[in-house]
Amino acid sequence: MRMSPAGTSAPGKRAAVVGAGPSGFYATEQLLKHGFEVDLYDALPTPFGLVRAGVAPDHPKIKSVTRVYTKTASNPSFRFFGGVTLGTDVTRDELLARYHAIVYAIGTATDNRLGIPGEDRPGSHPATDFVAWYNGHPDFADQQFDLNGGRAVVIGNGNVAIDVARMLVLDPAELAPTDTADHAITAFGMAGVSEVVLLGRRGPAQAAFTNPELRELGELERADVIVDPAQLAGVSVPEDGDTTKRRNVEILRDYALRAPSGKSHRLELRFLRSPLEILGEGDDGPVTGVRVGINELSADGTRAVATGAEEVIECGLVLRSIGYRGTPLPGIPFDSARGLIRNEGGRVRSEIDDSPCPGEYVVGWIKRGPSGVIGTNKKDANDTVARIVEDEQADALGVPDPSLATAAAVKDWIDQRVPDHVTWRGWEAIDTHESTLGESTGRPRVKLVRLDDLLRASRDG
Ligand code: NAP
Repeated sequence: MRMSPAGTSAPGKRAAVVGAGPSGFYATEQLLKHGFEVDLYDALPTPFGLVRAGVAPDHPKIKSVTRVYTKTASNPSFRFFGGVTLGTDVTRDELLARYHAIVYAIGTATDNRLGIPGEDRPGSHPATDFVAWYNGHPDFADQQFDLNGGRAVVIGNGNVAIDVARMLVLDPAELAPTDTADHAITAFGMAGVSEVVLLGRRGPAQAAFTNPELRELGELERADVIVDPAQLAGVSVPEDGDTTKRRNVEILRDYALRAPSGKSHRLELRFLRSPLEILGEGDDGPVTGVRVGINELSADGTRAVATGAEEVIECGLVLRSIGYRGTPLPGIPFDSARGLIRNEGGRVRSEIDDSPCPGEYVVGWIKRGPSGVIGTNKKDANDTVARIVEDEQADALGVPDPSLATAAAVKDWIDQRVPDHVTWRGWEAIDTHESTLGESTGRPRVKLVRLDDLLRASRDG
């Protein structure tokens, strides 16, 4: 095994990490530690992926993880190429010609579909779009959400469902000190949604919420949390069962015992309910309600079984929050059944004969599916980088073209291909610009949500 002076492997080896979210940064950190030079690419001019565009803006502590990523970015062997899209600006083959290892860290860009009539009516949206909109993702800044109907229905029992439900009922005073996009602060300020109904297809003991997120619903300034006690009757999680689920049931039991305190807003959790149809006038009139099937649990508790009974919940907004899904990239082996890049333990494998694709690796949600919290991606990235180091030791990495695979040659290539790409210094200029705008109003930042504005601010650096 070759060793660098610092005792790490892979001197002179170069890696491209595609996607600057948590898994991309954790992979970068490990690759740098093992002596690789790393170029981190992102389609957006800004780094941090879902930490910037997904984590709820009223959860600033979770966002502070970006300090760790910023430290990684201070390594002299690190470069950022923001605003460069794999598949349109650069291709897989072009990266293979320039790097010993490519790590795909592109996350899961779209949402799962319910596959029910009316799903695409105006007023029925994937929660992922709503999240990207209120977080100021430039591709979603112009989306419109009608927040005037009195009731909204959120479908799904995961943490994203909780996030969007909570955002809908937060008091403007709770939103004011956050980095919620300005357009969303204005829209939430004028919103007429006073009731949110959160629907789970299975029971309270099967919900995918984590405990702090569920507990937070009981502490909202202006919304009472409502759970019908009848829904908890006979529900329990055995002592030796899943602790998170057992605590969820305890929290829900506490909510069921609470009498509404007369707050202006309500957030109701309804279980054993599957949406059957999004209702509205004609084929494409706006949402007026959801026709819901009432379920019971299968004997082993794993499945929701329709009882045949139904109810209609009138509403003006539906947010479908039933999980994210990966989308294929041109030429990169994809498992369409699972919505993931084909891989074994992080090594990409061919669609044709299942052989490993030398020099191609994957981390994060596009490797294992959209599950876990931010920290889950650290171990996940470490596992993949361990495979990269094994392959390096076995001389089984990719074999780039020596005339193209130098830091200088790559810089010239990107300078030509995407002249207005954003470097790390460019991101620091955006960061300073946004933070300065936030200072006068006590907010961590005021996000720039237009690509033009982001690029202009980056040039100050
Ligand atoms: P998730 O945790 O996988 O939850 C998806 C929910 O959708 C489940 O309740 C699932 O029910 C339901 N569902 C799936 N298909 C359905 C259908 N056809 N009809 C009705 N319901 C359906 O996904 P997520 O909320 O998108 O979150 C993704 C990951 O990010 C999770 O690991 C989550 O914890 C994490 N996250 C964390 C935070 C935080 O830590 N604050 C915030 C946001 C997200 P079944 O269980 O019955 O399938």
